[in-house]
Amino acid sequence: MYDPATGKVQAQVDLASVAEVHEAVAAAKTAAVQWAESSLTQRTQIMFRFRELLAARTDELARVISGEHGKVVSDAAGEVARGLENVEFACGIAHHLKGEINEQVSEGIEVYSLRQPLGVVAGITPFNFPAMVPAWMFATAIACGNTFICKPSERDPSASMLIAEWFIEAGLPPGVFSVVNGDKEAVDALIDHEDIAAISFVGSTPVASYVYERATSAGKRVQALGGAKNHMLVLPDADIEMAADAAVSAAYGSAGERCMAVSALVAVGSAADQLVEAISTRIPAVKIGVGTEPDVEMGPLITAEHRDRVAGYVERAQQAGAVAVVDGSIADLPADGFFYGPTLLDEVTVDMECYKDEIFGPVLSVVRVETFREAMDLINSNPFGNGTAIFTRDGGVARQFQHEVQVGMVGINVPIPVPVAYHSFGGWKASLFGDTHMYGPEGVRFYTRAKAITARWPDPASSQIDLGFPQNS
Ligand code: NAD
Repeated sequence: MYDPATGKVQAQVDLASVAEVHEAVAAAKTAAVQWAESSLTQRTQIMFRFRELLAARTDELARVISGEHGKVVSDAAGEVARGLENVEFACGIAHHLKGEINEQVSEGIEVYSLRQPLGVVAGITPFNFPAMVPAWMFATAIACGNTFICKPSERDPSASMLIAEWFIEAGLPPGVFSVVNGDKEAVDALIDHEDIAAISFVGSTPVASYVYERATSAGKRVQALGGAKNHMLVLPDADIEMAADAAVSAAYGSAGERCMAVSALVAVGSAADQLVEAISTRIPAVKIGVGTEPDVEMGPLITAEHRDRVAGYVERAQQAGAVAVVDGSIADLPADGFFYGPTLLDEVTVDMECYKDEIFGPVLSVVRVETFREAMDLINSNPFGNGTAIFTRDGGVARQFQHEVQVGMVGINVPIPVPVAYHSFGGWKASLFGDTHMYGPEGVRFYTRAKAITARWPDPASSQIDLGFPQNS
């Protein structure tokens, strides 16, 4: 495992063998029996204690994340804060697990529904949010009474390990939250294991699609969130200065390694020239450096291969006719590490590779269109549908955008519309395989199954035989 800010190896990750994955599943299966029987009070009290530990140690965790991932400490603290919101949601699990009841559906008969845990569930997570994305899964899964196995990214696994330690400190019984480090071999072993009831996955679209296919074929419940190509639509009536600030923050924050990063700026009419000017004047002020140093705003990319891949996209975009208004390859960057500068490509067209692919780096492509309709058609014909945003002062147009856009998470003058923990997170189209979004109310549904009970406590005096199909009266 590399330190992305220096390019040097900083640690070795011991990848789990299939036998070790099976051991973890066996421990989780044993723990699942008692955990499912634990009371809501017991689960909630542990979750509250864990919440306190996580809140108190946010800075410690953020520094660990920054050292492995490369993102700046304030950004890492931001992801921990958003993960903490999921834990807080889980502290209220008693409320979210309330069933429903109808009294007197027929004479003397009640029907009520319960939600019960699935058993052992697993989460496979990406490198770019090593604390927040696991928290999207484990908080709800555990609070619902499941045991959870986390398979973090092999590029930055320490956050999950710390979380596991802090859960033990909070009083979580052994086997309820486990971590297996590993790569494809460990993932396949989890997917194929008959004792795992459900898989949550977050990562790139090809792997999401693979995990979904393989795990559903193995009879599992699956939610697999994939990659993205997020468009920010700016109309000429928008506050251009505000839109430019938002574009710089959303395109270059975390070096563009966010599934909700804005990578395509769709500028309508006269907005284009003004935006390109406003963004390009802001870029030189972005402070690039080692994420753990104060005041740095943008760190390196995760690996040397990924940095080279991003550079290749920028090179080929120019060969295809895009104009590099700001070229990150010639930026003033630290000598070591996997740095790449913020890049602004103008005159990008939808047939270009830099528009079609998720680059996952600090590269913003400007696509110029003449009308709002043209912009809508462009966004809706993109195969991805994770996040999008519109910048305008026109409420009617914003309303139309929100209604028609084929994307799962929509911002109106908000560039990175990650829903709060009590709503659910998920994209459409190639950004999500499965039916349920992650965390919030949909997370509770995903990690539980419903049971409907029809009950009668009759007066024995009224008992009689009736061979007909039960009807309500
Ligand atoms: P990735 O798909 O390479 O890896 C994700 C996880 O899958 C890791 O744990 C990895 O070990 C495992 N994995 C990798 N290759 C595998 C294979 N062939 N078979 C089985 N498992 C495999 O993704 P990444 O590079 O870690 O993360 C970046 C990607 O994640 C981007 O595409 C980004 O958009 C996406 N992402 C999406 C969301 C979302 O909410 N939709 C959130 C964060 C990241």
